[in-house]
Amino acid sequence: MSTNDPLFAPLPEAESRTIGGVQIEVVRAGGCRVKRLIYPVGFRWSKDMKPITGTDLCMHAHVGFLATGEVHIEYADGCTREFVAPQVMAIEPGHDGWVVGDQPAVVVEFDFERDTISRLGMPDAHRH
Ligand SMILES: [Zn+2]
Repeated sequence: MSTNDPLFAPLPEAESRTIGGVQIEVVRAGGCRVKRLIYPVGFRWSKDMKPITGTDLCMHAHVGFLATGEVHIEYADGCTREFVAPQVMAIEPGHDGWVVGDQPAVVVEFDFERDTISRLGMPDAHRH
């Protein structure tokens, strides 16, 4: 990663925090929040986030854009998804996920806080 890479540069007007090693920047825009998430090399939800959330799997829906890096998603029934930048991501609640390879993953994501799943029109769980 280049230090000049704007994908990693400080984001103006953002509220910033780090949770489970993930650098999260949030900017309110209209009725939603736009977030930039930088997942470090070696990140795995079940190792780094599960102890913080207290749920077995990540119960958030994610809709966004993977700008760099590679992400592997695994649902409770064993279904997997592989996302390689540049790629749009739509991930249903109830998943584990991790960064693949030796590059951090940068995701730009949209959410509506507690109303995220319904307002994005995502299913509330992974099913067939
Ligand atoms: Zn499935």
